[in-house]
Amino acid sequence: MGEPLIPLAKEAGLPFCWAQKDGAQENGAEASPGIGMEREDRLALIVAVARAVIAHEGELTRLDQAIGDGDHGVNMRRGFEAVLHEADALAELGTAAALEAIGHLLVNRIGGAAGPLYGTLALSMGRHGGNAQTLDDWILAFGQAIEDVKRRGKSEGGQKTLLDVFVPVHAVLVEKGAEAVAQLARIAEDAAEATRPMRALRGRAAFLGDRSVGHVDPGARSASLVLGVVGRVLCGEN
Ligand code: ADP
Ligand code: MG
Repeated sequence: MGEPLIPLAKEAGLPFCWAQKDGAQENGAEASPGIGMEREDRLALIVAVARAVIAHEGELTRLDQAIGDGDHGVNMRRGFEAVLHEADALAELGTAAALEAIGHLLVNRIGGAAGPLYGTLALSMGRHGGNAQTLDDWILAFGQAIEDVKRRGKSEGGQKTLLDVFVPVHAVLVEKGAEAVAQLARIAEDAAEATRPMRALRGRAAFLGDRSVGHVDPGARSASLVLGVVGRVLCGEN
């Protein structure tokens, strides 16, 4: 990755890597940790995700050249440049409202098949997360947003799309909670890599049939980037 993801959550004082805190997960009955994001925390997260997506434009382009039309890198960069441009104003909003606003930006700016899908994910997470306070609340909102993405894309897990990252990552979050946040990047990257042997059943890659086998799905890779950065920033890593 190019420049480091700054400002780092650690510097911003984010208390999010619960699993690495002494005793944070000592007994299973413990309540889900609360998430109280301040403006600076939101800014750190928004800037880090946008920069990572923009920095990986070339990789996303190459993946989409192999099994699509080669525009996924440009599409994602366009969307997240818009987010970066608005980062200060977005961070002023509450977390749920910021997600809704990001959703609108992504729908309008990414374009292609991915725009409405990423847009729906952010918009729907914001809407479902309006009253979210704990990690569990946000995991629930993430799951509801994934259902909305499935409806929007008329798709489901197992079809070699970005859902093959969102669905399994969500399942691990439901199962392991805070512990999974600490490992989000690895879990998401493994899920993206697991699309390689799949045969595409949705999106442009589906037209290739068996020739889509042997390539990582571009949308799955971009999804793993986004989730990986979220995990790293919440855990105060760069
Ligand atoms: P386009 O396919 O219009 O060129 P992009 O290249 O930006 O748009 O995005 C392609 C990615 O979108 C695919 O790699 C796949 O992950 C995702 N995708 C495409 N169609 C669907 C769908 N119906 N459901 C879920 N994801 C999809
Ligand atoms: Mg494309």
